[in-house]
Amino acid sequence: MHSGCIFCRIAAGEIPSKVVFRDEDVIAIEDVNPQAPVHVLVMPVAHHPDIVDLSHCADATMMAKLFTIASRLGHQRTSSAGFRMVVNTGPQGGQTVDHLHVHVLGGRPMKWPPG
Ligand code: 5GP
Ligand code: ZN
Repeated sequence: MHSGCIFCRIAAGEIPSKVVFRDEDVIAIEDVNPQAPVHVLVMPVAHHPDIVDLSHCADATMMAKLFTIASRLGHQRTSSAGFRMVVNTGPQGGQTVDHLHVHVLGGRPMKWPPG
């Protein structure tokens, strides 16, 4: 728990959010500023600044769990229409909150390439 981290504080229940999934390792919340009709953030409860940090863990279980849960939530909320998962990483990657999270976006057609 990093007290200066907004997502750690959300995971600890100190800041309210709309929680759509939770277990001991992973929490998924509705994005406060949704960019699509479906916009969920899936993150580890434990603080990892970004996906590179998590990639240095010898145990890949969390990496697998994050994408498993993100995939299930995306499919549940959009069915066969499809969805997009995004992991913004670092300043040029557009990351603004330094606690790893997977964006799950859907409910409208997505453009490519992204901006
Ligand atoms: P990033 O830019 O780091 O990839 O994504 C951060 C996301 O977190 C943004 O989509 C932003 O809307 C969302 N966000 C920032 N602060 C909060 C908050 O307090 N609650 C929730 N639910 N989402 C937040
Ligand atoms: Zn954190």
